[in-house]
Amino acid sequence: MSVCVVEDGELNSLIRPLLQQGPVMGPKERKQQPGFYYFDWLESAEEVVWDYVTTTLPPKKAFFPPREPFLEFSRSDPDKVRAITDEGPFAIVGVHPCDLAAIEQLDIAYSDDIADGRYLANRARTAAIIGVDCWPDEYCLCTSVGTEQARGPADLFLTPIERGYLVEVRTARGQELLADTAQLPVTDQDQADAARFQDEKERRVTAKFETDVEQFAHILAEGGLTEVWQGVADRCYSCGSCNLVCPTCFCFDINDDINLDLTTGVRVRTWDSCQLPDFAVVAGDHNFRGERWERVRHRWQRKFLYLYTQYGQPFCTGCGRCSRACTADINLVEVSNDLIAYAQREKQNV
Ligand code: SF4
Ligand code: SF4
Repeated sequence: MSVCVVEDGELNSLIRPLLQQGPVMGPKERKQQPGFYYFDWLESAEEVVWDYVTTTLPPKKAFFPPREPFLEFSRSDPDKVRAITDEGPFAIVGVHPCDLAAIEQLDIAYSDDIADGRYLANRARTAAIIGVDCWPDEYCLCTSVGTEQARGPADLFLTPIERGYLVEVRTARGQELLADTAQLPVTDQDQADAARFQDEKERRVTAKFETDVEQFAHILAEGGLTEVWQGVADRCYSCGSCNLVCPTCFCFDINDDINLDLTTGVRVRTWDSCQLPDFAVVAGDHNFRGERWERVRHRWQRKFLYLYTQYGQPFCTGCGRCSRACTADINLVEVSNDLIAYAQREKQNV
């Protein structure tokens, strides 16, 4: 890996060549809601907001769209059955460390055992990923889940410094991306600025788990936390927003949209949520997580126990989106710390 410095005014020269090669997704500010940001396909390099606060939806929608038609069918004419595929390269820019870590986790999950061909095809079309470091807000918990310095699949990673950005060139593709960009050699002062940024960022993270992720997994595995789950469930609406904004949630549903002729249609996959009441309904109408508290428990167990056990890392990258999005004000860190405190009290009472 090499490093260089790029001045603020040079960043657009990174994006413009990418825009000539294909679509580029990046963080923009909502015109109707200043201070709110979203990932979207760019019209121009100037639209990118590099110092944004976390977007509502993560950039996973570039690889795993919320609604993805993938098959056209016709019951009467087999020749009209056609796979719907997207082709051509695209790039994503301005991705924070937590979302870079999440892309890496989706890569792992969707490559495991029964690989997800559509996701992997979309990842293979990814021509470039440019990451950028960020300031946390009160919901970010990256230091509790170890993603504060994640770089994941980034080709280039930018850290804000006094002279612009310290650029980590992480891949050969990253080196190519800098071809049209003026680069300055890195000084000791630039390195010190970047280190100071990292320290200050970590210092500003205030939402923290009261134990490490290994111990938290152990607490969840021990069980006996029903009282806490039921307390959270009393406030939860089962709306599913927490799943839909999560960069690591990868469950989906598949439905057929039938046209009015009742013989043709499109098969579509859409993001799903384990918090919805019918998520776990199986044949015979049996719902094996019919109670709300069971679904709330499942979300924590899935992220911090089952997938932690399977892959050695919690499937939470600390973006804080679920807590930001919850209209019932259910906060991931507060609930986790309630669980930890409850388990500790129970242990003392034994
Ligand atoms: S966003 Fe909040 S209210 Fe909605 S399902 Fe998640 S925890 Fe419950
Ligand atoms: S569980 Fe919440 S904080 Fe963790 S990655 Fe998902 S949305 Fe972000």
